[in-house]
Amino acid sequence: CGIVGYIGNRKAVPVLINGLSKLEYRGYDSAGVSVNEGGLLKVIKCKGRLACLEEKLETEKLSGCMGIGHTRWATHGEPNDVNSHPHISQSGEIAVVHNGIIENYMQIKEFLKDQGYVFKSETDTEVIAHLVEYYYEGDLVDAVMKVIDEIEGSYALGVLCKDDENMFVCARKDSPLIIGLGEGENFIASDIPAILEYTRDIYILEDKEVAILTRDSVQVFNSLGAAVDKEIFKVNWDV
Ligand code: GLU
Repeated sequence: CGIVGYIGNRKAVPVLINGLSKLEYRGYDSAGVSVNEGGLLKVIKCKGRLACLEEKLETEKLSGCMGIGHTRWATHGEPNDVNSHPHISQSGEIAVVHNGIIENYMQIKEFLKDQGYVFKSETDTEVIAHLVEYYYEGDLVDAVMKVIDEIEGSYALGVLCKDDENMFVCARKDSPLIIGLGEGENFIASDIPAILEYTRDIYILEDKEVAILTRDSVQVFNSLGAAVDKEIFKVNWDV
């Protein structure tokens, strides 16, 4: 399973697919991407190999320059198109990719159902999309912080908001996630090989850290919301 995210001046989809292909060794049963297309979150996803996803992407061209991609190793809900990631919140405001397991998703799901949220998939992940939307009041990182205060288990997350065309958010706990620092572009990935052809400057996210990525900046926060001064890890090996 794997996560890749991109913001910069290139079209996001080829970077995401290329990165996900470098994570294929981790195993997966489904794949998908979400891209912010002029203030709309478009999602293309399907059960099967990356080649299936690429075929779908040929008919539906996505040209946005910010997006998140995912390969899924199903833990909750069978491998099928609907259970594939990214997952979109009720009103289409939020898109989420997730590797890991949300252990208390049942309680959160019941709470959200009481709030009127309708679930489309059988995954644990879908609660994250709706819960970010539930807490979202114009500040995506604030909403994600509230969510990670509530969820238990393991996660690497990439989160897009349709209102934010120039930034996205990521977070992790007990599932790997790194940030790749480029020139006028930035990346997230589950593992370094996914982004090594674009940059060798890496931030390694620690448990419960949250980051905001724009084209020109990466800000990392700890679980208390305080800015963290990350050291750049220089990759000096090749794949
Ligand atoms: N638990 C999530 C699911 O089954 C994520 C699995 C993964 O890590 O790919 O959809």
